[in-house]
Amino acid sequence: MKTLPKIRYKKAVTFSYDDGIEQDRILVDIFNKYGMKGTFNLNTGIQTSDDRFLVEGIEISRMDKENLGELYKGHEIAVHGLTHSHLDGLSGKELEQEFLTDAKNIEQLYGNYPLGMAYAYGEHPEEAVKYLESIGIKYGRTVESTHSFELPENPILLKPTCHHDDEKLFALAEEFLNLETTEDDPKLFYIWGHSYEFTVHNNWQRIEKLCKMLSGKSDIFYGTNAECIL
Ligand SMILES: [Zn+2]
Repeated sequence: MKTLPKIRYKKAVTFSYDDGIEQDRILVDIFNKYGMKGTFNLNTGIQTSDDRFLVEGIEISRMDKENLGELYKGHEIAVHGLTHSHLDGLSGKELEQEFLTDAKNIEQLYGNYPLGMAYAYGEHPEEAVKYLESIGIKYGRTVESTHSFELPENPILLKPTCHHDDEKLFALAEEFLNLETTEDDPKLFYIWGHSYEFTVHNNWQRIEKLCKMLSGKSDIFYGTNAECIL
């Protein structure tokens, strides 16, 4: 299994986006334009353009899994569950199917065994957490905002700073930019969401504004989740 060299930084920014949907193409373009790095959490069992769902009346489509390695080049691909299943009460066999199969598919399709995951629906029952650790998954993202920049104490149940639609997003960005710290006390700004939300809420300018604000700072490290956390 792959391990990363420990990266030292004073401040880091990272992003986490779920479900491998069509709008990720726009988001990746924005990230690449501003030098941001993100982690994209895929469901390889349903990762096809035939898989569509409605959000607030707008049809959302996943992408075909075959060519995503190219799209997400320079970013990180992580586990989100083979079929985006609810996790409560799953048997060992079902956990293996949902997580190990997804992880192995990712390794086979994109070349690296994944280091992390995001919990579908934010659900993280204890058996699932234990199972993920047993198959070498080093971190798991929940959906509970901290509004803080502390590094996660327990990466397998890591809490993001905030969702991109959080009303405090830009205030937090200002606070982070003005933060004075050292490599002995590193700080992390961790933003998550679904890229279709920018289409549904008609607010793509929000992520563009955030990336622009945070970009090009010599005291900030721009990394994937794994690079920033592990
Ligand atoms: Zn999801």
